[in-house]
Amino acid sequence: MPTRILIINLYFCIKIFKLTEKEKILFEQGKLLPLVEEFYTLQGEGFHTGKAAYFIRLGGCDVGCEWCDTKFSWNADLHQPAKTDDIVNNALKYKSKAVVVTGGEPTHYNLTYLCNQLKKNKFETYIETSGAYKITGIWDWICLSPKKHLPPIDNTFLKAHELKIIIQNENDFLWAEECAKKVEKKCYLYLQPEWSRYNSIINEIINYIKNDPKWRISLQSHKFMHIP
Ligand code: SF4
Repeated sequence: MPTRILIINLYFCIKIFKLTEKEKILFEQGKLLPLVEEFYTLQGEGFHTGKAAYFIRLGGCDVGCEWCDTKFSWNADLHQPAKTDDIVNNALKYKSKAVVVTGGEPTHYNLTYLCNQLKKNKFETYIETSGAYKITGIWDWICLSPKKHLPPIDNTFLKAHELKIIIQNENDFLWAEECAKKVEKKCYLYLQPEWSRYNSIINEIINYIKNDPKWRISLQSHKFMHIP
């Protein structure tokens, strides 16, 4: 297809969602959220690997990891705001009582209302965050995955139940150690190979953990299983 026609087609395909004044208020209250996708699957990585959970992916992230596998979520304006009550009702259709809120960077939003509604319905609430912004809401599990170029605010380190460092090269081990010094002693420590570098980095991670067993490995097992 000629480039000009492709650009025109893209222009008409991409829809930017602008909020009305009333929607802005609901957004601030956390009663509307920029939902990218929601799905029932198995948690593929970290401490809760293998557990069935309902995933809620929110749009918007300015952290900008070059290897990010959810770049489609970065621009929150491309995702139609969804009613938080509807999201919770959708989660209730499934058997697991675990909900994982991810992104994007979900802490861009007021998550108190979402957590309160989930808790009323007896869900366990898990969040995946880079920690770059203040976390709102009640969380049973905070998975902190800090990024060098936009590091966590300090008190987020202290709230983490799990620290997950993405390893794409040797320098990332230094970053991992720097972060490990800032979390509580009871926090679980994970090293996770960046998916596109898996083959080149996995042996180094294995050897690193054998030499320093305070770390555990986290693999993106959902990618091996070809599930979301
Ligand atoms: Fe992607 Fe997460 Fe990095 Fe944001 S913080 S760019 S969503 S990997």
